[in-house]
Amino acid sequence: MKNKERHVFLECTECRNRNYTTNKRLRADFKLEKKKYCPFCGKHQLHREKKL
Ligand SMILES: [Zn+2]
Repeated sequence: MKNKERHVFLECTECRNRNYTTNKRLRADFKLEKKKYCPFCGKHQLHREKKL
């Protein structure tokens, strides 16, 4: 059985740039949040999931 996944953006919570994409399981009902480097802010920022 194959896990259903969808692509989501990870959006910087500071400048709202969508710097990363990732896969997320469809069944997961939580919002992804990851600390990643934002090239626009020039530092690590919290990135939050946005739908494509
Ligand atoms: Zn940023």
